[in-house]
Amino acid sequence: MIDRETCPRCGGRMAFAGREEMQLGQYGLFTGPWSQLLSGALAVEIYCCQGCGRLEFYAAEPPEEAGAIAQTACPACGALHDCDDAKCPRCGERLF
Ligand SMILES: [Zn+2]
Ligand SMILES: [Zn+2]
Repeated sequence: MIDRETCPRCGGRMAFAGREEMQLGQYGLFTGPWSQLLSGALAVEIYCCQGCGRLEFYAAEPPEEAGAIAQTACPACGALHDCDDAKCPRCGERLF
């Protein structure tokens, strides 16, 4: 799990700064899975570090998987992986 309340840079406290609709493709902030989204706005929650001023963005509403293999979270480490994996690719925990 990502700790939204702790700054990854300075370890200070992250304060919730608001929620914005970001137009995809406009800012170029999102790559990877986000690039698969065709269009539309993505709701993000913004946290601001009170120590160093770093901004962090988190998706408020993760997009539905569109035709991808369903994923599940490892009960041991929380990593997302395909449902049909026999064991966790990250920590090796057996899933069945
Ligand atoms: Zn900070
Ligand atoms: Zn795991």
